[in-house]
Amino acid sequence: MKEYDKVRDVLNTLLEELNNRLDNITHDVRHDQNPLEHDFAEQATQNENNEVIDQLGNSARAEIEQIKLAISNIDNGCYGICEQCAEPISKERLAAVPFTSQCIKCASQAGPKH
Ligand SMILES: [Zn+2]
Repeated sequence: MKEYDKVRDVLNTLLEELNNRLDNITHDVRHDQNPLEHDFAEQATQNENNEVIDQLGNSARAEIEQIKLAISNIDNGCYGICEQCAEPISKERLAAVPFTSQCIKCASQAGPKH
C-alpha cells in the first residue's frame, strides 16, 4: 500500500538510529571495563553503570524487534492491525507510535510498561 511507504521509511530511519545508539552503548560498556579494579567502591559503581547500560541496550533491542516486526507487517499487509484483538489500530496512534503492535485499548489493558 502506498500510504505505508512513508511509514516504512520512517521505521527504517528509526531502525538505523537505534542500531547506532546500540553501537554507542556497547562501545561505552567496553570503555567502562577499563581496569580500576583495585578500588572496590569504584568497581561497585562501575557495575551499577553497566546495569544501566544493559537496560538501555535491552530496551533499544526490544524497540528494534518491534520495528522489524512492523516493517515485516507492512510487507505482508498486516500493518496497523492489533496483535491482541485484530482490530485496526487508529491512525492517530500509528502516527504517534509507528511501530506499535497493539491498539490503544489493548495497550492500556496490558498496563504501563516502564
Ligand atoms: Zn487491540
